[in-house]
Amino acid sequence: MSLSIPVVWSDEHRGHDPATGVWIGVPIPNDEVPERAETIRAALEAAGAHLVAAEPHADDTLLAVHDAALVDFLRGAWEAWSSAGLTYDPGQPDVVGYLFPTAGLLSGVEPRVPQALSARTGAYCYDTLTPISPGTWDAARGAVDAASTAADLVAEGAPAAYACCRPPGHHVTRSSFGGSCYLNNAAVAAQQLRARGCKRAALLDLDAHHGNGAQAIFRDRDDVLTGSVHVDPGAGWFPHFVGFADESGPTNLNVTLAPDSGDEAWLEGVDLLIAAAREHRSAALVVPLGVDAAVDDPNAPLRVTELGFREAGRRLAGLGLPTVFVQEGGYVLETIGALVLATLVGFEEGRS
Ligand SMILES: [Zn+2]
Repeated sequence: MSLSIPVVWSDEHRGHDPATGVWIGVPIPNDEVPERAETIRAALEAAGAHLVAAEPHADDTLLAVHDAALVDFLRGAWEAWSSAGLTYDPGQPDVVGYLFPTAGLLSGVEPRVPQALSARTGAYCYDTLTPISPGTWDAARGAVDAASTAADLVAEGAPAAYACCRPPGHHVTRSSFGGSCYLNNAAVAAQQLRARGCKRAALLDLDAHHGNGAQAIFRDRDDVLTGSVHVDPGAGWFPHFVGFADESGPTNLNVTLAPDSGDEAWLEGVDLLIAAAREHRSAALVVPLGVDAAVDDPNAPLRVTELGFREAGRRLAGLGLPTVFVQEGGYVLETIGALVLATLVGFEEGRS
């Protein structure tokens, strides 16, 4: 296999390395580790890919998909946490929430931003699994720059580009982050394509978990179609509260799969997303590319093979659209590089 799709890269991701996440009150090892991106990069470079450095971008397209309050919180959260002394009393090295303004707590009262920093995190982060470490902001902002740069390459005529984004982003809504994600890189890429003259874009999410962020961000717009093929949240999988098939509408399609679904069912789902993009008459494509639907990935119960990912790449290429791939999940270091490579090689096979 050899690869000509440019790979956009930011070194900033290395600074994002939280010690733990907190799950049902228990600190658990963080599996969204820097080695993920390094392993993918090594596999793509070994296949002949060339690296493009992420270019710094102004906040314009970022602020078109996220509230300024969320961006401001993320930018300053760790310094504020450290200045407040929370890193040594009670001794939490990373920013983690503990109180969340659920609909039941508020019971119709407008939510406020808490004065206490220890509580303020809950106004922006919807889980306890997504800690902010000292390098998180720079890494998340670097990932947005990588996605924006990939969108620029495609807007300027490249048939496709791949942004090796870390941390991932597809669980981030307009105002709230979680699911190991901080800023929605793929949504920024779609917005950047729109800003650079593409009239209609499709965002088709292949990660094993629902792309709830883009669904929320683009819900009321018909210029960006959102689609996602993922394990059924109703079967007990993240994000649990959203991602059901009946949330589909004129410009959103959720294809839900039963646990243990393999290549055949998954590729049928991919075909449904492709058909929706055709009907939408999208002029460009953004693919949030998680590879955690893989058979050996412990974070999701789907059973997609390397050949399945390669075939998905081929079928996506059949749309004939300029395409931006944005890295999302995938947690098995032994296979993540080969799975991303297979998808991109399949795409190139489908274009030729
Ligand atoms: Zn995932």
